[in-house]
Amino acid sequence: MSIFTKIINGEIPAYKVAEDDNFLAFLDINPNAKGHTLCIPKREINKIFDMDEAAYLELMRFSRKVAKALERTVPCKRIGMAVVGLEVPHVHVHLIPLQDMEDMRFVRKTSLSETEFEALAKAIHQNM
Ligand code: AMP
Repeated sequence: MSIFTKIINGEIPAYKVAEDDNFLAFLDINPNAKGHTLCIPKREINKIFDMDEAAYLELMRFSRKVAKALERTVPCKRIGMAVVGLEVPHVHVHLIPLQDMEDMRFVRKTSLSETEFEALAKAIHQNM
């Protein structure tokens, strides 16, 4: 069972941003930039291009909705999107508020307090 399935099952906590029957968005715990959000399918699958087409397109639709709320919440030039999955083998779309190309490098990280994470997740949720 992936760490993200544990989040879905409520076994470990996460700063949840949005949820429907099939997808969940929550803040990345080690963000590239403030507002870095992950969108995942609740059905655990390792690689994004192994998803069936309908589920893949639904994930994109869900991610787009979250990205728009994120862009309304966090000042940035635009929202970047990436799919990597080398660390956690459960499909996740990274949505990252960008100021410059470094924000897409997954090397420069930013840290937020628990209070900041909570406020951010709530603010993005309210902008959905
Ligand atoms: P990758 O699999 O390389 O796309 O990266 C996995 C991402 O998941 C990283 O950005 C981690 O910071 C993030 N991550 C890992 N565990 C958690 C967690 N428990 N809550 C939120 N984000 C996580």
